[in-house]
Amino acid sequence: MRWVVVFPGWLKRWVFSFVSAITLWPFIFVKHDHLKADERLIRHEMIHLRQQVELLVLPFYLWYLTEYLLRLVQYRDRQKAYVNISFEREAYAHESTPDYLPQRPFWAFLRFLTLPAK
Ligand SMILES: [Zn+2]
Repeated sequence: MRWVVVFPGWLKRWVFSFVSAITLWPFIFVKHDHLKADERLIRHEMIHLRQQVELLVLPFYLWYLTEYLLRLVQYRDRQKAYVNISFEREAYAHESTPDYLPQRPFWAFLRFLTLPAK
């Protein structure tokens, strides 16, 4: 299942201006229409879709927010906290690997919990 759509108006008001895509299962929202063809970006968001399904969606968001807040305490830097969330570490590490998702192990993001900081 893959539904990629341009940010609707209500979402634009809630997303930071630097964000070019956001995944809210089962949708991938992109800021501009041309981004639908950005394979690296879509692969990154597809990894988030898989993570969300594996955690039955709602717990993903709770975990994501909790880990972000813990990383914020850890690094005292918003950008560094964001890129070091285990879900983001996995997505950034494999967004350029075309055959990653078919062979990705279940709950693979757990392997990214304890990596050194980016
Ligand atoms: Zn991401």
